Amino acid sequence: MRVLITGAAGFLGSHLVDRFLSEGYQVVGVDNLVTGSAGNLAHLDGNPRFRLIEHDISTPLYFDSDLEGVLHFASPASPVDYLELPIQTLKAGGLGTHNTLGLALRHGARYLLASTSEVYGDPQVHPQPESYWGNVNPVGPRGVYDEAKRYAEAMTMAYRRAHGLDTRIVRIFNTYGSRMRPGDGRVVSNFIVQGLRGEPMTVYGDGSQTRSFCYVDDEIEGIFKLYRSSRVDPTNIGNPDECGIRELVSLVMEATGSSVPPIFLPLPVDDPVVRRPDISVARRELGWSPTVTLRDGLRKTVDWFRELMGRPYARSRTLFGD
Ligand code: UDP
Repeated sequence: MRVLITGAAGFLGSHLVDRFLSEGYQVVGVDNLVTGSAGNLAHLDGNPRFRLIEHDISTPLYFDSDLEGVLHFASPASPVDYLELPIQTLKAGGLGTHNTLGLALRHGARYLLASTSEVYGDPQVHPQPESYWGNVNPVGPRGVYDEAKRYAEAMTMAYRRAHGLDTRIVRIFNTYGSRMRPGDGRVVSNFIVQGLRGEPMTVYGDGSQTRSFCYVDDEIEGIFKLYRSSRVDPTNIGNPDECGIRELVSLVMEATGSSVPPIFLPLPVDDPVVRRPDISVARRELGWSPTVTLRDGLRKTVDWFRELMGRPYARSRTLFGD
């Protein structure tokens, strides 16, 4: 049993690698290390069931040994990253999806696409069920990610219909936990780093916008269950416990022990006002629902960041982006 996972050195990719290894699989990781970090896989050095191929998946990849599955997780995934890397983001979702689908087809492998809640854009239906088609601005700055993933879903379904490929599509909602890159610009990592440094947390807009944050272990469990299931239509995997950004400030202040008041900065263009998954399908068809509360998950994540920030090399600009 061997699976190939692109984006293996990223936040979710590296956790997924661990999950497949723990189930007895051999895992081939692929990553170009643009937003991923080899450090996320350092604990696998010398593991005979894992190897990493450094490769940009927007160019074709040829692989000879048998594959049971191909899971495409490579992409810049935080708004700051994909605004800095707009063309690479479109290529990872467009060409990268096409290349990995071709690879899966050649190997007769199951294919799982990492899609996103961003396919719903700034949603006019709340919470978002899989049947909602979304409200995306294709030409706005976020369009590079949203449209790449929408195209990726369309391409995955086309391979299913045209070639009979065995496909799965997971729509991943905001996820947090260990191995997030401290400088990736996402709200949870920003607030934790700011809280631990005793700096003010940067709230964009008035902080009334909402997100629904899923702890990484829950997210990975849902994705793994989807991979092993027979569910072929897109499936939301996320935590439906919705949280305003101002409320998140309080929770992260509590978890980091910070008492510095937040500052308010302009809201990014096209920032969705609300986001919350309807996970009825995952509950019913996968028997999955999240188990870790935001308070508990934040505590574990803060512990991880505290440890990371204590390491001398971790104070580098690259990791923190400042
Ligand atoms: N946000 C914020 N402060 C930050 C980073 C993000 O207030 O330092 C807000 C952002 O405007 C958005 C929400 O937090 O409304 C989630 O942002 P994130 O970049 O984590 O992911 P998104 O869900 O927008 O893809």
